[in-house]
Amino acid sequence: MNRGFNFSAGPSMLPEEVLNKAASEMLCYENTGQSVMEMSHRSNEYMQIVTDCEDLLRHLLKIPQNYKVLFLQGGASLQFHMVPLNLLTASKKVDVINTGTWTKKAIEEINKLGTANIIASSEDQKFNYIPTVTKDMLTSDAEYLHICQNNTVEGTAFHTLPTVGNVTIISDMSSCILSGPVNITDYGIIFAGAQKNMSCAGLTVVIIREDLIGKVNNLPAMLDYKKHADNSSLYNTPPTYAIYICKLVLEWLRDTIGGLDNMYKINLQKAGMFYDYLDNSKLFSAIVSNPNDRSIMNIPFTTGDKQLDADFIEFTKQHNLYNLKGHKLVGGLRASIYNAMPIQGITTLIDTMLQFEMR
Ligand SMILES: *Cc1c(COP(=O)(O)O)cnc(C)c1O
Repeated sequence: MNRGFNFSAGPSMLPEEVLNKAASEMLCYENTGQSVMEMSHRSNEYMQIVTDCEDLLRHLLKIPQNYKVLFLQGGASLQFHMVPLNLLTASKKVDVINTGTWTKKAIEEINKLGTANIIASSEDQKFNYIPTVTKDMLTSDAEYLHICQNNTVEGTAFHTLPTVGNVTIISDMSSCILSGPVNITDYGIIFAGAQKNMSCAGLTVVIIREDLIGKVNNLPAMLDYKKHADNSSLYNTPPTYAIYICKLVLEWLRDTIGGLDNMYKINLQKAGMFYDYLDNSKLFSAIVSNPNDRSIMNIPFTTGDKQLDADFIEFTKQHNLYNLKGHKLVGGLRASIYNAMPIQGITTLIDTMLQFEMR
């Protein structure tokens, strides 16, 4: 077996410890005589997995009691519609900071149910920075503010929240959840597709303040936060295996990494090493130039030459490094270095880039 380092933006690398544990339990989970995949979601053993998963998430992210944790399906993409569907009751106006591909999709869905007011945008510079937002830019009767905390495609991130007073902030954290500690009470809803930093594909995690649940009546059951909250995420069959993998990832974060403060330190170290290399390289450069706006999870970069970028991707494959092609909208190259990417993955990538530069 020759496992390489996988720089995919998602689905992405999982910790080897997690994959090994899942492999060892694949045929028979504890003393149940069956695989987790084959288990009833109503069995005591499976319900224990869901409870443990939620408890671990609450512990790691310090989620207060007045927030519910929901394990849903449909991806972060369904949340683009489900959030306005469940929240809009009055003006039906939503303020949005337009920072790229994933806020554009959210804007499209908001506009099907109300009006998205783009209060700031970085589209003028291909979304390669985070626009400054002040309180006076907000729409007075907007029902909430939508942001994408980490822009997976463009490689920018909000490292601090804009100071917007007590407006409800809804944050798409698909590509940065669990990368470090966050203050949950700054947010009304946090949602994330799990396939980047939490688990395998199939699971979407929603952390929602209780007063935002049940504002709209008669929603389709599967699109109603209240239905899922009242049934502890077991209204219908949840993505059982993805929740189990999520539990293993959370155990790894607690036991092997030592919590989110440590995870954040490691992530800063990994991203710091890579940006340092890019900023000093004669061949490669980072696409996001302002250090304050740079993501520590997704790092787009380029040689500035299409053919050289393509040659580099071929070169990396020979060195067991995968999925370094940039998103088609940004072009060039991109290294996604989520929690599960070991430091050795970064040093190997830098080493390979140096060899390519020499050549
Ligand atoms: C990947 C991603 C999405 C879409 O997630 P799906 O689970 O595929 O729907 C949305 N927002 C961000 C920031 C992402 O990185």
